[in-house]
Amino acid sequence: MSQAQIIDGKTIAERLRAEVAAEVAILKAEHGLQPGLAVVLVGEDPASQVYVRSKGEHSNAAGMHSVTHRLPADVSQADLLAMVDQLNRDPAIHGVLVQLPLPKGLDEKAVIEAINPAKDVDGLHVVNAGRLAQGLPSLVPCTPLGCMILLRETLGDLSGKRAVVVGRSVLVGKPIAQLLLQADCTVTIAHSRTQDLPAVCREADILVAAVGRPQMIKADWIKPGAAVIDVGINRVPFRDPVKAAAGKTKLVGDVAYKEASAVAGYITPVPGGVGLMTVACLLKNTVTAAKRIAGLET
Ligand code: NDP
Repeated sequence: MSQAQIIDGKTIAERLRAEVAAEVAILKAEHGLQPGLAVVLVGEDPASQVYVRSKGEHSNAAGMHSVTHRLPADVSQADLLAMVDQLNRDPAIHGVLVQLPLPKGLDEKAVIEAINPAKDVDGLHVVNAGRLAQGLPSLVPCTPLGCMILLRETLGDLSGKRAVVVGRSVLVGKPIAQLLLQADCTVTIAHSRTQDLPAVCREADILVAAVGRPQMIKADWIKPGAAVIDVGINRVPFRDPVKAAAGKTKLVGDVAYKEASAVAGYITPVPGGVGLMTVACLLKNTVTAAKRIAGLET
């Protein structure tokens, strides 16, 4: 049985980060412009702490100015908004990212809407979502942007392909669907109320899974030869009872990777696929924001 070609997110993300670093060096040398990223972390969520550390390390490694603001979980909405306002005004900062999810009691939507859309490097502000929907230049959410780079690297021109996106979140599903539409795919968005989801998935030349359910998508949901992009990051206990008893967990995607690899033409592994592209695209978005703010790009 033939095996799917693995879409190597690690190598593609490394290359993207190197391209960003080269562009940062040029911006510094030719325009005296050092792109700056500010990340705000509220509370002590362990996964968020790992993500925020990684964002800081990678932006420093790319030669960018990078600051992390840590606020206690009981910070008031007003104080958090004041922090966002301060970063909106800071000329050394071109990207403002508030790490989600926020602790209970804080209004996430209000915080995102308080970010200057020109500095919204997570691409979640309604202005950026609206501009994306209208096909106008915008800051695009990092994970969807990363998925599109992987798809273009793998398939080249995407025009005319049937794409199915499983998941309709504002963070992942909807923006990926918009980007696939812009790339002239014929796009279906599936969700928890979709009827006969396996049959819908089997129509896809490009299948994007952004659900958050471990290994939900099985081999017989996949059209032979399709490109499968697995966005899911799910922590599950090991099958090995010794490891499981020790409380050890592993990461799996939304696709049953092993069996799906025997049917798909191309597939992203978890870990090692989409996840690594997310931070690389955050750096890319920060450079884009810096260039636009400085009038070097429209
Ligand atoms: P959400 O929970 O916000 O959205 C999940 C979507 O999946 C919803 O639209 C939901 O439908 C749909 N869904 C849930 N159950 C089913 C089902 N049984 N059948 C069909 N559709 C279903 O999750 P996110 O979009 O934020 O994240 C999705 C996954 O991607 C998660 O595993 C997350 O950890 C991962 N992720 C990975 C990132 C990365 O860097 N690789 C970044 C961000 C997220 P409905 O709308 O009807 O409820």
